[in-house]
Order: sequence, then structure tokens, then C-alpha cells
Amino acid sequence: MSYRNHYNGTLRLSDVGKEVTLTGWVAQRRNLGSLLFLDLRDSTGIVQCMSPNPDELPDIRNEYVVQIQGKVQAKDVPNKNLPTGEVEVLIEKLVVLSKAQTTPFIIADKTDALEETRLQYRYLDLRRPVLQNNLRIRSKICHAAREYFEENGFLEIETPMLNLSSPEGAKEYLVPSRIHHGAFYALPQSPQVWKQLLMIGGLERYYQIARCFRDEDLRADRQPEFTQIDLETSFMTQDEILTLMEGFLKKAFKEAAGVDIQTPLRRMPFWEAMDRFGSDKPDTRFGIELQDLSLLKKSSFEGFGEQDYVKGIVVPGVAGSTSRKNLDELNMEARKFSLKGVIALKYLGGKLEGSFTKFLDEALVSELIAKLGLQEGDLLLLASSASRRQIDNGLGALRLLFGRKLGLIKPGTYDLLWVVDFPMFTPVEGEDRYVAEHHPFTRPRDEDLDKLDTKPEEVLAYAYDIVINGYEAGGGTLRIYDHDTQWKIFKLLGLTDEDVANKFGWFINAFNYGAPPHGGIAFGLDRLTMILAGTENIRDVIAFPKNLQAVDPTSKAPREVTPDQLEILGLNIADEE
Ligand code: ASP
Repeated sequence: MSYRNHYNGTLRLSDVGKEVTLTGWVAQRRNLGSLLFLDLRDSTGIVQCMSPNPDELPDIRNEYVVQIQGKVQAKDVPNKNLPTGEVEVLIEKLVVLSKAQTTPFIIADKTDALEETRLQYRYLDLRRPVLQNNLRIRSKICHAAREYFEENGFLEIETPMLNLSSPEGAKEYLVPSRIHHGAFYALPQSPQVWKQLLMIGGLERYYQIARCFRDEDLRADRQPEFTQIDLETSFMTQDEILTLMEGFLKKAFKEAAGVDIQTPLRRMPFWEAMDRFGSDKPDTRFGIELQDLSLLKKSSFEGFGEQDYVKGIVVPGVAGSTSRKNLDELNMEARKFSLKGVIALKYLGGKLEGSFTKFLDEALVSELIAKLGLQEGDLLLLASSASRRQIDNGLGALRLLFGRKLGLIKPGTYDLLWVVDFPMFTPVEGEDRYVAEHHPFTRPRDEDLDKLDTKPEEVLAYAYDIVINGYEAGGGTLRIYDHDTQWKIFKLLGLTDEDVANKFGWFINAFNYGAPPHGGIAFGLDRLTMILAGTENIRDVIAFPKNLQAVDPTSKAPREVTPDQLEILGLNIADEE
């Protein structure tokens, strides 16, 4: 006989009268003496079971695994909070399949258990419907990816986990070699070079749900191992790639969360996103756009230098309620982004108030009010900086702060756009060098190639990010596919000829044997799931995540290994000073 013939969460009025066999965990029991009620949970949900003869049943407690046979009957008073709330199962037989100790926390969506405790007993935490739902969304995104990309001629191909260490990007996880003492593999930060070699290998369309590893300091939205839906294609233009990818997003949103998205998605150049929203991943669900206020250079304020950018944001309706203390806090926030601070002006009673007004004559005040269209209660925050990125980032952060604080973002809304035309390089603040804005394999735009030697900071790239609700949910580029340009980019990024030859020679040489024009993208599976599950905690969408110290709280990895294990690998651990 099978363990069960129905799933608990599926029972409805139409099942009344049926004899059912169910299995699951006892989520809750109430013994009223002559009546016993128990909620039986499986992966599909909960159904109430009841017995008028509790004395004839074995002793049961919460989280026992049981099998129940009984008859479905209609409930006198339906429970509106449960999908199965119109029925209950009259218990005829109950078998205990497995007993449970008292659990360290109550297994329910609402919990006040510490996250560390939940992660230590993750197998109990995973019984909570909210986590099961998150993992279901994740699985549906993967399923949509496999279906969509297979239909579009992509092949799922695995690439190596044990790789050559690469000097670019984040810190790597190294794996010592037993056979070659002193030599190490590195776990992949992404399958980037492999997927490009697959294109040179003539596969034309590749995808993989790929685990990636980066040994970086962790945050709420970062994990040492994370998953990308990784893709590469040959012989496609940037526009064709974006359109193809929109088809996947449309399907994933619909199938994983029932959300309809309108395509084609907007495409916004990087500098427009920075200028208007102060971010390369703008949340465009609310206004408070950044305003160019160069006109204030005409004021008598000497703090604005000739080269400075002067910009501001107007926050509606808060002038009256913004205290000195609030402004101090805003200044602290602005300084985190290397701004000197922000100047506040309030538009109250039809007048502009604030100590900065002493630098403005009447004509300039009128010009400012007219330019910004100031309304009663508006708070104007101004900043200046010699760096365009700095002022945009600083004001962009303040914009976001107000958008969230003032509840300007409607929950449950989705805003998707492509940010395109990224610069090829990002200058390193305070140093005379550049890093790659995306990665060194990104192709500079054809029309900017001649600026590589003269004005590298002005070179734009065939690079694109998919931005959803202010999060970067994926990013990709067209790739360089000729040997000399790739070599040159590495040199511009500060590598010597010797470095390039040693670290990347094996890769770039492949370009000498007929490399097709190619490009691709990687979507962050964790991030996509977070967005569709409505959580800001990446650990809520990963079955067994690491904590903020990069420890797996369930198994307590990493731990020390035995001296024998080290000896086999030819390793010695130095004493800590
Ligand atoms: N490999 C890139 C990344 O991990 C994505 C891409 O360019 O396809 O960000």
C-alpha cells in the first residue's frame, strides 16, 4: 500500500466523503479532552484532522511524522485562513512513522527565533511554508530558463569547477592540489572564459545554471557561493541578445510569480541613469530625480569651484518636518559617498529658507524656484563635487533613502529596464589607473576604439545590465574577439606583457584560430528569486546558505582538518602571530 493517496494542501469541498490516506508532520495539536484536533502539514500545505476518540490514538506531539487514514467531511465553521479550511479529515487510523523531540523553535511562518538558530537547524526552518515557497519560486525560474533556452537552441554545458587562478576580480577560493604540491586550483568566479571558449569551439549557444564563488566580505545580499543563469551566444547583435533575454524574463516572471511584464523593456544609457537617478541600477518607480543646478555657480558662494558639478534633489512635502538633527543625519549619509555634505533649502510660505540663501540674490532665487518648479513644503538638497560619479552616487543614495522613507515605492510593483552603454573603464578614486567596469573581456564600442589610447575614460562599451526595482539582476557584454584588442585591454588595465602572457595567454591564443563575434549575459538566480519572493535577505532564497562570517551554520564548515590531511596536500599552517 502507498504511504498516501492525497496531498494535504489539496483537499477541498469536492473531496467530501472520500476515504483518504495522508502523511506529514503534526504542525499543531489541540486536545480538548473528548476531541482531538491536529493540523497535518506536508509540502503542499496543512489540513485539519480530528478525532472524537483521542484515547484510542497513540501519543502524538508536534513534528511527529504520522500517517492518517480517514474520511473527508465538511467543516461546520470554515477556517478562512487555510485553502483547505472548508474541510477536515475524520481520523479512522493514525500511525506514528517517526517521533520528534521538542524543536528549538516553533515551525511557522511567523517566528521570533534568531536567524542563527534557524540556520543551525535549517532542516526544521525549511519546513516553514514561506521558505518552501521561496525555493519553489527559485525552482520555477530554473525550469523556465531550461525550457526557454532549450527551445531557443541553447545547449546546457557544464564548465570546470577546478580552474586556473585569475588575477582579475574578487578574491578566490583556492583548492590545493594533492598531486602537485604547492599548486592550487581556484573555484570559478564565473564561467566567463569557458563560455567564450565554447563559442570559439563552435557551439554557438550555451547556457548553464552555474555555481560561482567569490571570497568577499558578506552583506545581506551577498553569499560566498551563488548561482548564475549563465549564457553565451555567437553571431548576435546587442539588440538581438537583449530581445532574446527579455523573452526569458517574461516567461520566468509569469511562471514563477504570475507576474506579467511588458516587453520590449526600456533601454537607458548609463550616463542618463547616473544623471537622472544617481545610480547605474536606478529604481525608477518614483521620481525625486537629480537636477542639474549649474546655475548656482552664479551665486556669491565661493565653495563651488569652476570644474564642480552642482546638482540637487527636491523632496516633496518634508520641509516643515525636517529638523536640524535630520539634516545632520543626511549629511552623514552624503559623506559615506565622499560628498562634502549637503546644503538644505526649504520652500515654506512661498519663500526659500536656509542659511545658503544669503549667497543668492533675488533674481537667482526666482530662477531657481522656476527651474525646479518648487511647491510649498519642498526640501531642496544641494551638493557639489569635482567628480561626476561621486555627486551622482551621493545624491542617488539620498534619493533612495527618501523614496523608501516616504513610502513612494508601491510594494508588489515591478520595474524592469536595461541600462546600456556603460563606460569601458572606471577610474580608481585617487589613483592614476582604471579597472574594468564590467570585466576585461568586454568589447569597446567600435566608434570609441580610437579613444582607447587617448581618452580611455570616455570609451563606452557594448555592456548591459538588467535592472529590476533598483537591483542589478544580471549583466553581460559583447566580447572582444580579436587577439590584439584583448591584449591591449589587459595592458590598459595595468598588466605587463609578461602577466598577460602568463595568466591569459592560453585563453587569448584561442582568438588566433577563428573566433566568432559573441556575447552573453549572466542573471543572478538568487537576486531574481529575492525580487520575486519579496525578500531582501539572500539567505531566504538559498536552501543552505552561509552566515555573515562565511560559516555554514548547519555543519559548521569551514573547520580545521587533520595533520594527515594537510601532509597529503603538502601544506603547513603557519602559527598565528
Ligand atoms: N561573467 C559575467 C559576470 O559574472 C557575466 C557576463 O558578462 O556574461 O558578471
